[in-house]
Order: sequence, then structure tokens, then C-alpha cells
Amino acid sequence: MKKLEQLYEGKAKKVFATEDPNVVIVSYKDDATAFDGAKKGTITGKGAINNQMTNYLMQQLEKAGVPTHFVEELNERETAVKKVSIVPLEVIIRNISAGHFASNYGVKEGIVFDEPTIEFSYKNDDLHDPLINDYHAVALKLATWDEIDLIKKYAFQVNDFLKKTLAECGVTLVDFKLEFGKTADGTIVLADEISPDTCRFWDSKTGEKLDKDRFRRDLGNVEGAYQEMARRLLGK
Ligand code: UDP
Repeated sequence: MKKLEQLYEGKAKKVFATEDPNVVIVSYKDDATAFDGAKKGTITGKGAINNQMTNYLMQQLEKAGVPTHFVEELNERETAVKKVSIVPLEVIIRNISAGHFASNYGVKEGIVFDEPTIEFSYKNDDLHDPLINDYHAVALKLATWDEIDLIKKYAFQVNDFLKKTLAECGVTLVDFKLEFGKTADGTIVLADEISPDTCRFWDSKTGEKLDKDRFRRDLGNVEGAYQEMARRLLGK
């Protein structure tokens, strides 16, 4: 597949056109940002790990009945995906309190919920991705009720699958963020990535953090955490 002009450059990925108007190429970078872009850095090897982990999980999710944008892995950091218009909602599922849930509500990290929670943020850099509820999302025409219902159903399916898959690797899934897209024919598919950049992973035995919190909080051994997740999930 031929890489044509760059269409977009985000914080962690670049997107290129191809000869097929319905397919684009995503190229994962080693750049890392946190706190709304205020903290910047590089995590060597991250792009390759996030690309391969995302592709592995998306292919498994397809088999489990969640449609995704995945088309074909091209090399260690580049993948062909279906061209979609991203639904401007960050969909966050939580199994255990951490991050903004803990700070917003004044509770400690590590409270295991009886059932997972879901929340949405409005993807809008100028507004700093504010929390939004489903009624407001529909009022703003970010998605229809049918699309939101489907997105919720898929997000909980992803949670069930990821929790189980990670548990088999000795990893507890704390929380994660998903993004969905709409293909040319209006189908909702899982898009973006599923990686240590977008999930919180804790070692099931020791509680050690194996995700981007090591970068956000300067915990050290950031590269090692990404490599450990690749080893456990992908065997490499
Ligand atoms: N998350 C993300 N991108 C964002 C915000 C959050 O991937 O812009 C992920 C984050 O890695 C975590 C989950 O969503 O796994 C919940 O994050 P939270 O709302 O606690 O915010 P954070 O503390 O990560 O800013």
C-alpha cells in the first residue's frame, strides 16, 4: 500500500492518504504528551509497541463482534485503517478508581467498583476536552441516540474482552479511553488505539503501574513498562 500525502499530525500519530479513498495509513510516533499537552517527552519504542498492541487487540475484538477500523499492519509502526470521521467523544470506562475520577471526587486510587462506569468527554482542544453527558452530546449533534447506544454497547464489550485477556497476562485493567469513527457508509467502528498510552494497567500481583502514568508522574522506567506490556500481551 502506497503512502501518499500527510493528512494530519496529532500528538502521538500521523495520518497519511493512500490510493484508496476509504483507507488511510496511521504512523505511530514515540512522542508523548500529558496534562493537556503541558508535559512533553519521548518514550523510545512506544510507537512500535502501541501500533502492534492495538492491532493485536483490534483483531481479537473483531472476532469477538466489535467492528474496528483495522485493515492491515504494514510495518512495526504503521497500519492501514479504514478512513473514518471520528465521533468527537472520548469514551472512558473505569473498573477501579484512578486519575481524574479519584481527584474529581476526592477518593483514593484503587477502589474496585461493583460494576464498570462509562463517561464521555467532548473532544475539543480549545475547550480542553470537557466532560459531557449523552443528552448534551445529542443536543450538540456529536452523535445520534442510536450511535451513542451502540458506542456504549461496544465499549462495555471491549471492557469485558480486555479485562479477561489482560487478567490472563497478570494485568489488572483499571480504566481506558476509546474513540469511535464513522465509515463512509455510516457504520460505527472502534478507531484510534488501545495501548499503555490510553489505558491504566496495574500488575495484578504487585500493583506496579505498567502504563503512561509512569511518564505522567515521573515514576521512572517508562520504556520498561511499555516493553513489559508488549512481552506479556504479544510475547515480544
Ligand atoms: N485517557 C486518554 N486520553 C485522554 C484522557 C484520558 O487516553 O485525553 C485515558 C487515560 O490513560 C486513562 C483513562 O483514559 O486510562 C481515564 O483517564 P482520566 O479521566 O482519569 O484522566 P487522566 O488522569 O489520564 O488525565
